Amino acid sequence: MGPVARVALLAPVDKDYSYTVPDELAGQVEPGRRVVVPFGRRGRRVPAFCVSVADEQWTSTLRPVAEVLDDQRLLSDSLLELGRWMARYYCCPLGRTLAAMVPAAIRVQSGFRTVRTCRLARTGEEAAKGVRLSAQRRAVIDCLTAHPEGLTIEALLEATGAGRAVVTALAKAGVVEIRTHREPAPAPDFDRPGTEPAFQLNRTQRTAVERIVAMAAERRFRAVLLFGVSGSGKTEVYVHAIRAVLAVGRQAILLVPEIALTTQIVERLTSRFRDVAVIHSGLTGTQRSLTWAAIARGEKRVVIGTRSAIFAPCPDLGLIVVDEEQEGSYKNLQAPRFHTRDVAIKRAQLAGVPVVLGSATPSLETWHNCDRYRHFERISLPARISGLPMPTVEFVDLRMAQGERKGVHLLSERMEQAIRRTLEAGQQAVLLLNRRGYANYLMCSRCRHPVLCPRCQVNMVFHQTTGMAVCHYCQSKMPVPTKCEDSSCGGKLIRWGMGTQRVEEELRVKFPEARIARADSDTMLRSEHYEDMIRALAERRTDILVGTQMVAKGLDFPAVAFVGVVNADTSLAIPDFRASERTFQLITHVAGRAGRAEAGGHVVVQSLAGVSPVLSFAIRHDYEGFARHELGIRRQLGWPPFSRLARVVISHTSRDRARAEANALARGITSFLAEHKLAGQVLGPQAAPLAQLRNCYRYELLIQAADASRLLETLETLRHNKVLKPSGQQVMVDVDPVSLQ
Ligand code: ADP
Ligand code: ZN
Repeated sequence: MGPVARVALLAPVDKDYSYTVPDELAGQVEPGRRVVVPFGRRGRRVPAFCVSVADEQWTSTLRPVAEVLDDQRLLSDSLLELGRWMARYYCCPLGRTLAAMVPAAIRVQSGFRTVRTCRLARTGEEAAKGVRLSAQRRAVIDCLTAHPEGLTIEALLEATGAGRAVVTALAKAGVVEIRTHREPAPAPDFDRPGTEPAFQLNRTQRTAVERIVAMAAERRFRAVLLFGVSGSGKTEVYVHAIRAVLAVGRQAILLVPEIALTTQIVERLTSRFRDVAVIHSGLTGTQRSLTWAAIARGEKRVVIGTRSAIFAPCPDLGLIVVDEEQEGSYKNLQAPRFHTRDVAIKRAQLAGVPVVLGSATPSLETWHNCDRYRHFERISLPARISGLPMPTVEFVDLRMAQGERKGVHLLSERMEQAIRRTLEAGQQAVLLLNRRGYANYLMCSRCRHPVLCPRCQVNMVFHQTTGMAVCHYCQSKMPVPTKCEDSSCGGKLIRWGMGTQRVEEELRVKFPEARIARADSDTMLRSEHYEDMIRALAERRTDILVGTQMVAKGLDFPAVAFVGVVNADTSLAIPDFRASERTFQLITHVAGRAGRAEAGGHVVVQSLAGVSPVLSFAIRHDYEGFARHELGIRRQLGWPPFSRLARVVISHTSRDRARAEANALARGITSFLAEHKLAGQVLGPQAAPLAQLRNCYRYELLIQAADASRLLETLETLRHNKVLKPSGQQVMVDVDPVSLQ
C-alpha cells in the first residue's frame, strides 16, 4: 500500500500512467501540479501533469515520480475537471489539454522575487561600540533604530544616502543583520481608472443587470444571450454586472475576440475597473505567469482577455462574459481545438455561475439554444441608446454598374458619389474588401490558366509592393512569371481580381486630395501599426480607410459617416455551410461602423451576384428574419445547430496514401457505428477544400451526430477502440469546426 499518482504525459498519448510517490515527495505530488517521471524502457525523464493521487496496492513494477516541477497547484479541482471534459469532448490527449490551460513557460517560482531586508542585530548596540562610526554608519543605525521591524536594503539606502558597502560592513561587524526571503512579484499593471459616465442605466439595461446579478447571487448556472445592436448598451451591462460580482468579493472573466484586443473596447473596459488583468498575446512568458499567479492569489479580480483567459485561475469566480460570442476567432486552431464560448459555458456550469453571451448577430447555435434549452435565456436590448436611426443601407449590382461605364471600376458611381458627399461634409469613410493585395490573381490571357502555388494548388496572389506572387496559405513566394507556365501556350499573363491595394489605387486616382490609409495584413505587420492607424482615424488625419475585415470591428468613431462594402460576394463564395451567416455578420458589423455619427450613416453594399436573401436581410438590419430563414435551411439540410459535426482531415505527402487512408477510415467508422448501434453517420471522404497544404495532400470526412452527447459518445467509443487516433500529425480531428476550409 502507498500513494500512487496518476499522471497525464504532455506527449500526444491517449492514456494516463501510474507512478509511486517516494517519501521525500509525499505531499508535493498532488493533482494539478506538474511532475517529471521516467518513461519507456530506457526511463527517459518526461514532464507530466499529476491528475490524481490515491492510496493503492501497488506492485514493484511501478516506478517512482522523479521530481515535482511546481511548488503550487497550477490547476484547481474545477479547472482539472474542465480539462477532463475538454480532452474528451475535443478528442485531445489529457496532458496536452492541461498544458494548453496554463501559460506555456509557467514555473510558479518565477512569480517570486528575492527581497533582502535589514534590521538592527539583537546585540547590535553592543557591537556598535566596537567599530568606528562614520556619519553614514551612524545614519544607518539611527534609521534602523527608528524602524525596529526592519527595512528593505533599497529603502534603507534611499533613506540614509549611504552606499551598499556601508551596510555590508555593518553586517560583517555584527551590528545589523540581513535576511533574505522570497515574496510574490507584482503582475503587470493594467489599472487605468477613468471617469465614470454621467448617465444612469435605462430600464432594459437595469433589468438585465438585475437578472444576471440575481443568478450570480444564487450561484446558479445559466447562459444569458444579451442581444442588441452595436450601440444598444451591452458593454454598460457587462460593467455593472461585473461590479456587482466584485462587490461581494468574487472575480469575473470577460472574454473578447482576438481582433478587439488592441482596440477601443479593451481600453474602455480596463478604465472602468481596478485590479484588472489583461491577458493577450503580447505578454512575455514571465508577465503571463506573474499575471497568472496574481489572479490565483485573488489580487487581480477582473480578467479581460482572449481565448486562454477562460482558464484564468480565479479562486471564486462569480461571472463570465463572452463579448461578440459569434466570433470565429474564439475557436482554438491547435489541439485542443476548443471553442472558447463553449468552454466558457462548460466552466460556468461547473462553477455554478451565469455566463453572459453578448452579440448583435448571435451565432445561430446560440440563437437556437435559447429556444431549445431551459438553461438558456435571451435578453434583448431593443434600440440604440442614442435614439439614432440605424444607417441606411443601399445595394448596388456591380454587373449592371460595370456595363454602364468604360474601364474596370471597383467602385460604382453610387459608391463614388457617396464617398464624395462624405468628404465634402468633412466626414470619414471606411471601405471594406475581404481580400488583401492588388490585382490579386494572375492568369494566362490566352489559355486562362491561373498561376497556382506549386505546394498548395491555390491561386497565387500578386503583391504590388514586393513584385512577388505569394501563396496566402503557406506564405511561399516567387517572382512573378512573365509567361504562361504551359510552355506549349506561352501566352502573356494578365492580372485580375480585386484586392485592398487595387481599391486604394483607384481611390487615389478618383480622390486625389483625400488622405487615404490601408489596413490589411500587409500594412499592419505589428500592433503599433494598428494603433497608429486607429489614432490617425481618431484624430481625423485619415479621410478614407480601406481594409480587410480588420476594419469591420471594434472601431467606433463618430465622424465615420459612410461605409462601403466593395464586394459582398467574396465571403459568400466560400464552400462552407456558414458562408451566409458570416456574410450577414460581416455586413452588419461593418455597417455598425457608420452612423455612430449624428447624421445617422450611409452604407453601400456592392455585389456581382445580385441580391441574395442574406443581403436583403442585412440591408434591412433584420437579424431575426435572417435567423429564421437560415435556420430553416439548416434544419432541412441537417447542418448545425440541428446536428453536431466532427471534421477529420487526413494528410499525407502521397495523394494515393491520403485518399486510401481516408477511405479506410470512413469505412472503418461506418461499419463500427453500425455494429455498435451508435448514432451518427460519415460524410465523405472527399478532397478537402484546401486539397493541398504545405506539400501534403488533404482528404477530409465529417462525422455527424444528432447532438453533442451523441457525438461525444461516438467519438469516445471510436477512440477507445482505436478506430480513431487522437489528433496528431497525420490525422486532425476538429470537433464543432467553425471553418470547413
Ligand atoms: P454596445 O456595447 O451594445 O455597443 P455600449 O455599452 O458601448 O453599447 O453603449 C453605446 C454608447 O451609449 C456608449 O457610448 C455608452 O457610453 C452609451 N450608453 C450606454 N448606456 C447608456 C445609458 N443608459 N444612457 C446614456 N448613454 C449610454
Ligand atoms: Zn502554398
